[in-house]
Amino acid sequence: MSRFWSDIVHRLAPYTPGEQPAVSHPVKLNTNENPYGPSPRVLAALNAELGDHADSLRRYPDPTSRALREAIARRMGVRLEQVFVGNGSDEVLAHVFQGLLRHADPILFPDVTYSFYPTYARLFEVQYSTLALEADFSIDVDAYRRPNGGVLIANPNAPTGRALPLSEIERLLDANPDSVVVIDEAYVDFGAESAVALVDRYPQLLVVQTLSKSRSLAGLRVGFAIGHPDLIEALTRVKDSFNSYPIDRLAQVGAVAALDDVEWFDKTRHAVMATRDALTADLQALGFSVLPSAANFVFATHAEEDAGALAAALREREIFVRHFRLPRIDQFLRISVGTDAECAALVEALKTLIKVAS
Ligand code: PMP
Repeated sequence: MSRFWSDIVHRLAPYTPGEQPAVSHPVKLNTNENPYGPSPRVLAALNAELGDHADSLRRYPDPTSRALREAIARRMGVRLEQVFVGNGSDEVLAHVFQGLLRHADPILFPDVTYSFYPTYARLFEVQYSTLALEADFSIDVDAYRRPNGGVLIANPNAPTGRALPLSEIERLLDANPDSVVVIDEAYVDFGAESAVALVDRYPQLLVVQTLSKSRSLAGLRVGFAIGHPDLIEALTRVKDSFNSYPIDRLAQVGAVAALDDVEWFDKTRHAVMATRDALTADLQALGFSVLPSAANFVFATHAEEDAGALAAALREREIFVRHFRLPRIDQFLRISVGTDAECAALVEALKTLIKVAS
């Protein structure tokens, strides 16, 4: 009964995650999951945690996730005190809003980007202004040269898939020496340049990544942030005022195993990139315009076909893609890169739905 709600609850606009369909064998290309599964070493690590230490779940996990943060520091070439971990990068971002972005001036992010950002802004009462992407959905970094309480950019951006080169991120940082600049790199491993290389030079830079996509661990919920120890300390203070044990024992050991298996990481992300390029060509042959993608999804629009109707017709065939009923992008489909077979099933279905002009 809403009369019992806290005031703020009336003002929230909760994020809607992509559908997790109830059918048994969906072609599921709607939530940017990785089609290949995590490194086999992850399963071995989970089994070892459950088997060798049969009673380990009785005990709380390490509240500081030290072994996991050490693995991230090793992999990313940074120091332990530059690493924060959270229960998915969504939780990391929540702490960023709470701990680093609540200032007098509004924060800035693009009009078309990850739709969780405005949701967090409402929850944490952070003022924001959105800046329009260019007509081709690229980000004009010069637009972010104005007073702000922080800047938040997904690179590659979602749901467009377009990436900024590192030189543009540097220009953004040079233009904003006095506000926190957050680069959300959820998809960076599929073809963009990481700003982690810049954290030692820019104390205002915080880079956020996830194990959900390129390490195929969406179900384990592990994300992290890298930045100056002062930024990390703010996040740790928020975390320790919220939940001391956000990363459970299984997530900690599984994530370490995934980070240490570089061979699996490289093999699977390159397979996704190759399939993405083939899918792009197939969609173009069907008359779609496809934005250049540095992510594990493509963003495509068709001049003659309504995107919402296509998504609905695909859904009837148990093929799931993401369609956002939002300004500027309601004629686009966001299609996650699946296996070659899943993408072929999508393309075959589209061929029957689209009357390709002969
Ligand atoms: N950032 C972006 C841009 C995303 O698309 C997602 C996935 N929905 C996330 C962050 C959150 O990912 P996770 O919580 O699984 O780490």
